[in-house]
Amino acid sequence: MATIISENTISEIKNTADIVDIVSEFVLLKKAGRNFVGLCPFHSEKTPSFTVSPEKQIFYCFGCGVGGNLFSFLMKHNGISFPEAVKMIAGRYGIEIPDQKLSPIQEKRMSERESLFDVNRKALDFFRNVLFNSSEGKRAMAYLEKRGLEEKTICRFNLGYAPSGWDTLVHFFLKKQVPPELIEKSGLIVSKKNKNGFYDRFRNRIIFPIFDVNMQVIGFGGRVLDDSLPKYLNSPETDVYNKSRSLYGLHLARQKCRETGSVFIAEGYLDLLSLHQHGIENSVATLGTALTADHIRLLKGYADRMILVYDSDQAGIRAARRCIDIFWKEHVNFRKEDVFRKENVDTRILVLTDGHDPDSYLLEFGAEAFFNAAKKAPGIISFLMESAIKKYGISVEGKIRIVSELKETLAAIDDGVARSLYIKELAELISIDESAVLEKVREVLVKKKNDIRRINRSNGFPCPNFKGPDNSNKCREKTISEIGSRLERQIISMMLQFPEILPEIDRRNLLDNFEDQLLKSIGQTLLTLKGNFQSRVLSTQPTARDCVHASEIMSRIDDKEIRGIIAALAITENFWDNEGCMKLIAQFEDSRNRSGSDLLRKIKAAEAANDHELLMRLLEEKQKLAVINKQQKLNQRGGK
Ligand SMILES: [Zn+2]
Repeated sequence: MATIISENTISEIKNTADIVDIVSEFVLLKKAGRNFVGLCPFHSEKTPSFTVSPEKQIFYCFGCGVGGNLFSFLMKHNGISFPEAVKMIAGRYGIEIPDQKLSPIQEKRMSERESLFDVNRKALDFFRNVLFNSSEGKRAMAYLEKRGLEEKTICRFNLGYAPSGWDTLVHFFLKKQVPPELIEKSGLIVSKKNKNGFYDRFRNRIIFPIFDVNMQVIGFGGRVLDDSLPKYLNSPETDVYNKSRSLYGLHLARQKCRETGSVFIAEGYLDLLSLHQHGIENSVATLGTALTADHIRLLKGYADRMILVYDSDQAGIRAARRCIDIFWKEHVNFRKEDVFRKENVDTRILVLTDGHDPDSYLLEFGAEAFFNAAKKAPGIISFLMESAIKKYGISVEGKIRIVSELKETLAAIDDGVARSLYIKELAELISIDESAVLEKVREVLVKKKNDIRRINRSNGFPCPNFKGPDNSNKCREKTISEIGSRLERQIISMMLQFPEILPEIDRRNLLDNFEDQLLKSIGQTLLTLKGNFQSRVLSTQPTARDCVHASEIMSRIDDKEIRGIIAALAITENFWDNEGCMKLIAQFEDSRNRSGSDLLRKIKAAEAANDHELLMRLLEEKQKLAVINKQQKLNQRGGK
């Protein structure tokens, strides 16, 4: 049901909820001074630049420039709307949201996603009912029992069964008067070729509902009971279901992942159920897709050790290469994915013996053997080295092929120390001279460097030289320091952090002299909002005032870029007092006086006095000055 949320409720939520609390659900945060820092969930990085301020209740990433308050964080991170974010936080803190009617337009916008969740939820009930209360369901139940699944696991994961009829689900929804077009959007039914009606997508299949971390049903997977094909069928992607960003079982695994700091990643539904049933609850499964960079970013918020579980060397090698691929692609984009670097995400490959999948392995050997095997699971690079040695042997011929197969992998490690350690390890493993391996790796590196140069040139990327991926952050960090002048940024920063100064800024018309239009408009917004805050400013403690101020403003800004700029300027650690503020204002006025704000005053006076001749002369002068200023600015930038 769609509801509108009152200002009162929103402010109650703001006063209760804590941004550190909310963000910690998704990002591992560590205390750093007055703030908390962690690895940014919105871009790939190795050193934490994602900063959360508990005082100001805002976040900002110094790497990619994303910033906002707790609502904008949830909206961006979970891909949800503002009302959804509000509801999520309200639910968490037990704040009730009184129902209020929406306008027709709001209703339409809001209701599409909610309707899809609703359809999915109804379908889940339908499938469950078939599994537990029909003769077809009994057959499916017998199959699940044969596979060793206990009823509590079946219930915990809400398994169901799709009956064999072609339109059982279609009729179920027709009876409930749900429009078929909506059900089609959910992917549960498919339009017939002749456009004359619909049929059920899932028939004769065990149904695995897929939940997001908010416990909403986003899609379904279906598995046949026999050997017919396709063995697995999944919902298509919809407005609420994105395969490369969803992981099966994460809703039940995330708590354990956080507790243990590690996560097992399996490939199939049944493997995942088996892992959970054996008490290995920090497990998730990919949904018919290979592991993606988004998956890794998502999981990074819960665990810093990932163990990918496979049933054969071949599958393991494919996955390991894929991880390096992710790394490589991100690297070319100057966004570093440290998927296999020990100091960040420690990624391991666990290949179970004798072609066992997790399900059969656990049935035969039990959970303890599984944990022991996991403890010995090698990292990605070591795994690839071991596999290559196993494959080619260490004859002279074999050694040549091993080095040739691994040179790309080794070159993809962009940490020089780690790379040389692995090169040394490989050289020792196959007893050849280290410099021989090094030479092969260098060849790849030189080629890589040239490729990146070429790509940058064709993309017009501002970094002309490849200086290693750490460069990437610097390139993007520039964005905030490139906006306006240092003084103008400081003034906005002061306005955000010391709102007591707002009346003074207003009185002096300080913003009129701003050259940067974006900063000027942000400043004007702050002045407009001033009235709203003043009563609260006077009545609360200084830190509470800070918190209300910066975070509150975020709620009122729709533009992502501007939100980022505000977060950047609000989160810097400055200690403002009246005296410091007045000094800054004086400094700014001084600089403007020099560069012609007295000219502006003269122009205004000439306007008031209707002195046309003087006015024309002054305007001409102003134009000249503007050109000079612009040139000066360019010179300053060039000289940096
Ligand atoms: Zn970022």
